[in-house]
Order: sequence, then structure tokens, then C-alpha cells
Amino acid sequence: MNRKMTKAVKIGDVTIGGGAPVVVQSMTNTDTRDIPSTLAQIHALAKAGCEVVRLAVLDRDAGYALQEIALQSALPVIADIHFDYQLALLAIEQGVHGLRLNPGNIGARWKVQEVVRACKEREIPIRIGVNAGSLEKEILAKYQGVTAEGMVESALGHIHLLEEEGYDKIKVSLKASHVPLMLGAYRKMAECVDYPLHVGVTEAGTVRSGVVKSAVGIGSLLAEGIGDTLRVSLTGDPVQEIPMALEILRVLGLRNRGVDLISCPTCGRTQVNLAELAEKVEDKLSNLPPLDRPLKVAVMGCAVNGPGEAREADFGIAGGKGMGLLFKKGEIVARLSEEELLPALLQEIENYVKQYGKD
Ligand code: SF4
Repeated sequence: MNRKMTKAVKIGDVTIGGGAPVVVQSMTNTDTRDIPSTLAQIHALAKAGCEVVRLAVLDRDAGYALQEIALQSALPVIADIHFDYQLALLAIEQGVHGLRLNPGNIGARWKVQEVVRACKEREIPIRIGVNAGSLEKEILAKYQGVTAEGMVESALGHIHLLEEEGYDKIKVSLKASHVPLMLGAYRKMAECVDYPLHVGVTEAGTVRSGVVKSAVGIGSLLAEGIGDTLRVSLTGDPVQEIPMALEILRVLGLRNRGVDLISCPTCGRTQVNLAELAEKVEDKLSNLPPLDRPLKVAVMGCAVNGPGEAREADFGIAGGKGMGLLFKKGEIVARLSEEELLPALLQEIENYVKQYGKD
């Protein structure tokens, strides 16, 4: 896959853009002022595979909380600021590693200059985040509504404000809940600038609709080589976003983290409860630590086609009548009773984790 080359920016020790691996990020939904809860959620996000985290900064108390959070956080911390340049300055003083801020929204030019000066001193990048739901009135009037062109024009306006202050540690996002709209906006943006792009579908919804929207929206862009960091936005606990994000990257061959589970759709030949078997295997796989190398596991319904269909799998099982086969790399290595199948497969996976697990 040819990825569009962008400038690199650093958020703490994580590089975004410049050909670096696509970075997974998320946002806490705790009250930022509640330091223990926020740190606990950051820890859970990091454990799941998140690499950068963003926190909402609603008021000065939240701003002050950032100091301890940034110090103790397992991940680089981005402060999400909307309109108040003083909160941006406070967040920078507290030691955050990045800002999400639209300079056109914070008022007078001198305020932008103050924020840029502080960001320059600490080498903190700024993400310009255009959202289809909050485009400027003039742009809405010019384009007669929300359009990809309008979103790009809005982003370019914010970018130019920073560039005029001699600042180029910029990332850009152009999120919309409507997938064709966000696709159009990101594609146009990728033609206009070489800043790294943070890709995502905003307000994507609950797990069921959000995962599909994100996979289609984010996945399409990444498949075209567009995107340097991503967030899968889902309603609820942000930790659930991370396996989805990692899966999108793994499916596209962009990152190796996560396990590839293949299971057959079942048909008239299936004589075991394959759906239950596959779910149990999936449960096990979802709790694995990071591995040094990819792992592919197959759960197949029959011995006729199963091993052959799953030839590339590291391990697999294929059901039969009251029995089943355990196979490695498509080769049958044991004939087992139905009850023995799952434990035998899980044991193989455990051995693999012992050998290649990073933790
Ligand atoms: Fe049917 Fe066997 Fe293919 Fe599963 S692996 S769909 S049971 S033929």
C-alpha cells in the first residue's frame, strides 16, 4: 500500500506522519478533574493498545489536573480546547504533549500568537479539528450547507493562521458523521497539504453502527494511503474503540497487533456448534497480550474443506460428527473428541503466547 508522505510531528515520544506506523488514539470520557478515574481509564486504553490519548479541558480545574495526569499517564496526552486560549496556555504549562485547538475559534490574533509561542517553546503540535457540525456561518452560506469543500476551506483558514505565525507542527482532522462527506473532505485535504491527517468518523454511534461507519470511512482512506493517526469514535467506554481500531489497521496490513480469527460461515456439512466454539475462541483471543508476530486462528465447520480453507492459519480446529481435527498451518496434527477440541486449541494458543508474547 502506498501511503501519502506527510510531515512528521511528535506527540511525546509518539511520531505521527512522515511514514511512521498509523497511530491509534482515543479520548477519555471521565471528568478530567477526577485524576484517579482519568488515569485509570488512560491505563486501560494503553493496555488495550491505544497510543495517544485526548482529554477534554472544560475549565481551569481540569487544566490544573493535567499536570499530574500528564506526569503519570502511560500515554502522551493531548488537551482538547475549544474557545478559551487561557485554557490552552494553562494546559501547555501543565505539561501536555499536544493540543487540539482551532486557532480561528479563540479570538484576537494576539491570543493565537500567545498560544503559538507557548507551543513553539515546548514543541507541542496542534491538531486542527474541523467538524461538519460546527462549520463557520460564512462557509455554510458560501457553499449553501455542509460540503467537503467547505470543510477543507475551514481547515485551511485555521492552518493559515498558524502558518502566518511561523508554526507548522500541525495535524488536521475533518470529521463528519456522514461517511461520503468525510471521505470527500479528507481526499481534498490530502491534495492540498502535507500535514499528517487524523482520520475518523465523528458521532459514529454505538458499537453496531459505529464500527461499520468507521471501518468503511477510516478503512477507505487508509486503503488509499490517506491517514497517519485514527480514532474510532463509539458511544460509551472508549476502551472498546481500541480493538476496532487495531482490527482496521490489521486487516489493511498496516499494523500487526491483534489476532486474525477466521471462521467459516457454516453450511449443511457443519455438525458441531461452530458459532459457540468461534465465540469462545474469540473471547480468548480478545484478551491476549501483544505478540511479536501475527497470529491467525481458524475455526472451521468440517474436515472436508476446513483445514484447506484455513491453510495459512497458525492453528485451527475443524468440526466433524462428535469429533474434530486440530491443525497447524493447514496440516492435521490430532483427531480429538468434540469436548477436547476447544481446550486443545486454547492450549496451543497459550503456548504461542508464551513464546511470542511481549508482556
Ligand atoms: Fe461448510 Fe466445511 Fe466450508 Fe464450514 S468449512 S462452510 S462446514 S464446507
